[in-house]
Amino acid sequence: MPVQTATTCSIAGCGPAGAVLGFLLARAGIDVVVLEKHNDFLRDFRGDTIHPSTLELLDQLGLVDEFLKLPHSKVSAVQVQTTSGQALRISLERVPSKFPFIAFMPQWDFLEFMTTHARRFPSFTLLRNAEVIDLLHQDGRVSGVRYRDESGEHDLAATLTVGADGRTARTREAANLPRLETSPPIDVFWFRLPRRADEVAAVFGRIGAGVLLVMLDRNDYWQVAFVIPKGGGEAIRSRGLDAFRRDVVAAAPELADRVEQIRSWDDVKLLTVRVDRLTQWYKPGYLAIGDAAHAMSPVGGVGINLAIQDAVAAANVLWKPLSDGSVAVDHLAEVQRRRERAVRIIQAMQTFVQTRLLAPALRAQRAPSIPWIVRVILSIPVVRDIPPRMIALGIDRPHIESPARNRA
Ligand SMILES: Cc1cc2nc3c(=O)[nH]c(=O)nc-3n(C[C@H](O)[C@H](O)[C@H](O)COP(=O)(O)OP(=O)(O)OC[C@H]3O[C@@H](n4cnc5c(N)ncnc54)[C@H](O)[C@@H]3O)c2cc1C
Repeated sequence: MPVQTATTCSIAGCGPAGAVLGFLLARAGIDVVVLEKHNDFLRDFRGDTIHPSTLELLDQLGLVDEFLKLPHSKVSAVQVQTTSGQALRISLERVPSKFPFIAFMPQWDFLEFMTTHARRFPSFTLLRNAEVIDLLHQDGRVSGVRYRDESGEHDLAATLTVGADGRTARTREAANLPRLETSPPIDVFWFRLPRRADEVAAVFGRIGAGVLLVMLDRNDYWQVAFVIPKGGGEAIRSRGLDAFRRDVVAAAPELADRVEQIRSWDDVKLLTVRVDRLTQWYKPGYLAIGDAAHAMSPVGGVGINLAIQDAVAAANVLWKPLSDGSVAVDHLAEVQRRRERAVRIIQAMQTFVQTRLLAPALRAQRAPSIPWIVRVILSIPVVRDIPPRMIALGIDRPHIESPARNRA
């Protein structure tokens, strides 16, 4: 098949942001090429959370019933417990949504679902094994991408290029946009432990003396996030695996019967938590969205939600100027304007949780109490509903405004 050399919108990266934007633009009749460097979507855990706001968008697209037939578990509460016996529950049950729960589903199933539906639109192309290696420039603007696949390097000209290539985005590096980086005080070790069928499907937070972990239900296993002080990975490894297993059990005693299944450090992956955001998401011919525009902390598990909401806002603003060839820098600035507030508020919230709650808990010599401020917030009706609402729906709740001009 001849290599396509031009398109209206090239999108680097087929994560949640790229897949949803590609779908929406193709649905609106725009010629779009999504380039994904991997051959499939099967990769390391990067969050499985499909939030109420995303379910509402799928509902708007008429796809939610089919989507919810895919295997998933419904989680409607986060339960936090300390080894000193305190507990709190953050419930999504009062979130004003038709879907007051988080659907836990492997991210690859979501991406496969979106791209399978997008492929039904004739103007949608997904190139797998296609790694974007540079941006092309012409007359002072970005004019497309250079990418590499098994047959070599190719140039793809595009009216607009969207960088949806994640937190280590090649495109944003090539675009050289101004960036603000913060220094989160935590990193995370990730590992899996088996889950018994009789265990409740939920998100559990466990706090012990200087240890802190979160357990996410993935059907037959728990995905465990073990929070550590920033840069503390080597020190923990040097104490040995037995000491690490003891720390896990200290926070979550119910894992004592299976902690031996962490057999080597190869089973434990380090996530270096990085939080940043571009202060300008665009330049002529180029726009960054999702993690490429703002790498999120894992706190609250909201990165996927934000990335998808960026994609919806981008499609809402851009479908028309892309379809009549009038796309200009002002349109790209409008996408940033619509989304930046939400990103800043969520990142500020994550910073508060990291520095005021998580970091002190990691320094604690004995089982800490749940801070009074958290208990107060969660005891006041109305106020207690704000954090779950932010997790479930985000700050703004963009609705799809781009039309369905391209029928599948
Ligand atoms: C360990 C971990 C756990 C997380 N847990 C959660 C969670 O529970 N809930 C939540 O909401 N968020 C979670 N997140 C954050 C979430 O994964 C991201 O915020 C979200 O995936 C961002 O979506 P995105 O589409 O912007 O980028 P990504 O999901 O990073 O997608 C980028 C895509 O671009 C591709 N790509 C990269 N470079 C190139 C290139 N040069 N050329 C072509 N393709 C390229 C990548 O292969 C990838 O498919 C977690 C992140 C990590 C790392």
